[in-house]
Amino acid sequence: MTLKENNAADMRQMVDQLNRWAHEYYVLDAPSVPDTVYDALYDRLVLLEKQTGVTLPDSPTHRVGGQPLKSFSQHRHLKRLYSLDKVQSFGQLREWLQKVNAAVGEVLFTVELKYDGLTINVTYDDGNFVGAATRGNGVVGEDVTQQVKTIRTVPLSIPFKGKCELQGEGIMKLSELDRYNHKHPSDRLKNARNAAAGAIRNLDPKVTAERNLDVVFYSSGYEEGLGVASQRELVEFLRRNGMVTNHVFRTAKTFEEIKAAIEEIGAMRSSLDFLIDGVVIKVDDFAIREQLGFTDKFPRWAVAYKFDAEQVTTRLVDVEWQVGRTGKLTPIGNLEAVELCGATIRRATLNNYGDILRKKLKRDALVFVRRSNDVIPEILGAAEKGGEEIPMPERCPACGGELQQAGANLYCVNAENCPPQIAARISHYCSRPACDIEGISDKTVYQLMKLGVTSVADLYDLTKEQLLRLEGFKEKKAQNILDALEKSKSVGLAQFIYALGLDNVGVVTARDLAAKFGSVEALRQATQQQLTEIEGVGEVVAEGIVQYFSEKQNLDIIAKLRDAGIDPQLQKAATGVFSGKKVVLTGKLLNYTREEASKIIQNLGGEVSSSVSKTVNLVLAGEDAGSKLDKARALGIEIIDEEAFRLMTASEAERH
Ligand code: AMP
Ligand code: ZN
Repeated sequence: MTLKENNAADMRQMVDQLNRWAHEYYVLDAPSVPDTVYDALYDRLVLLEKQTGVTLPDSPTHRVGGQPLKSFSQHRHLKRLYSLDKVQSFGQLREWLQKVNAAVGEVLFTVELKYDGLTINVTYDDGNFVGAATRGNGVVGEDVTQQVKTIRTVPLSIPFKGKCELQGEGIMKLSELDRYNHKHPSDRLKNARNAAAGAIRNLDPKVTAERNLDVVFYSSGYEEGLGVASQRELVEFLRRNGMVTNHVFRTAKTFEEIKAAIEEIGAMRSSLDFLIDGVVIKVDDFAIREQLGFTDKFPRWAVAYKFDAEQVTTRLVDVEWQVGRTGKLTPIGNLEAVELCGATIRRATLNNYGDILRKKLKRDALVFVRRSNDVIPEILGAAEKGGEEIPMPERCPACGGELQQAGANLYCVNAENCPPQIAARISHYCSRPACDIEGISDKTVYQLMKLGVTSVADLYDLTKEQLLRLEGFKEKKAQNILDALEKSKSVGLAQFIYALGLDNVGVVTARDLAAKFGSVEALRQATQQQLTEIEGVGEVVAEGIVQYFSEKQNLDIIAKLRDAGIDPQLQKAATGVFSGKKVVLTGKLLNYTREEASKIIQNLGGEVSSSVSKTVNLVLAGEDAGSKLDKARALGIEIIDEEAFRLMTASEAERH
């Protein structure tokens, strides 16, 4: 065996071993080795991949997520994905069942959890994960291959070799949601379903990776030789192929049996570590399913029994006002402790003062509280008359500053001196997706404010002597913060724009702004018109941005940050599919002139060269390409045709 073959065999073994361990850990929840053993082998694999330049398609290193995408491409499902017919009561369920029985007689049903997440359609071929897509309209969805690849419960290789589409639900466990929120205090996710859907439909696969999602598989679409004739066999098949399947799987024949299973699931709902919004009842036998067929929207052989959102009544003791980063006042209801979904609830959110009026809420009166899918429960309305009026705050509860009303919301206008606003801005600036300054927790922020820090720019003036004066600070902790601050000076432009904390500018918008303008200075000069040219940036967002850059205190902070050495720039040319690539054109193009094609390549970061040499990365070959093409082949340079070129540039050409 040559050294190369040796490495290849090693790599195969390492990947298989790691995948087996990951399966034990993530799918079976029964790890057979400690994390450190896994990590050690993982590190060795990373090293070997680096040395050889080879990464196997099912290597666990794919799980960290690759480069952000510019946009999602469309994916056409091989077989249509249907939605489910719904019933809301046992009466309706009985009617549904009678229809099925009338058509095919008594049959066996399966009863499963209905996960509340995002449908994912995964395609395998020849034993490999080849892609994943959202459901979309059932016929065409969005290609989320790079995102789903990061999800550890989606195997990247399976024993089954035929081509098949398998469907599952992308979910975020509630424990993961808690963990995430703990880690990102200024960027909390409220709802596990939206957190999962948002992660999968995020252009940056690293975001998906960070949320630690799961996919629970429950159905099959197009398939070649799956050899499965019932739902029970499908579940067996999925398990054999390393997938997570429904956490509850019952069979039932009669209405009474189905009802009992639903009640059983209803009782366990609040103790599950994930959201479900009902139960799915399916005919087990695929041949009988075929007899029943489909309506234009649903299969006739399955139905979703939807749960009501859980609801209780309790006493609203008081309303507290919290001041957020933008100065917005949010009312929080203090409740008499009550059990809901297996947790003791003492607080619930409200939207704003208008919300309190609309719901006729009074202090010391009973209210309805619901925890549907949100982690934080919500007050739905008054459950009795009486109680004390809840006054509208006249001054900021935190700083005593003046309030301003905008729509139904109240804002503290004392942005510069209101402590919770300052603290929230600093926390936001330091958070992971922003400048990622480790070591500055919410508590630390308040300590720093005592040292006189009033804006994010002041952070860079901190000295070690100052930090050492703080309670709980030792040499190491102080140094870590100073190091993290130093490191943050090389933050990327998109992260920096996000860190500034403009109204309505989230991670995605920040990235779009960075790509379009290339520097904070250019963004400062952007007109409303230029801003709204960006997809997803509407009038309100654009106005907010222009407003932000018209305020002196913001410009002062930016100037001060610049003086501290923070002024990230984006090399415009480095932002396309051809970034850093030398491209040669040869042959006749049908839909572009040479000039047009060159322009597109340059706009997408590439350099156009006239002759083929070893330094060329890519050759675009049109019709009748001659010697240049031959030479490119001889040198092993990547060659694309006009169609591939069109696809690579289609969505991007419009943007630039
Ligand atoms: P709905 O989105 O309310 O129309 O419900 C249909 C969706 O339920 C499907 O598209 C799936 O994403 C989801 N679902 C969750 N759990 C299951 C399950 N066990 N079987 C089938 N579909 C499920
Ligand atoms: Zn205030």
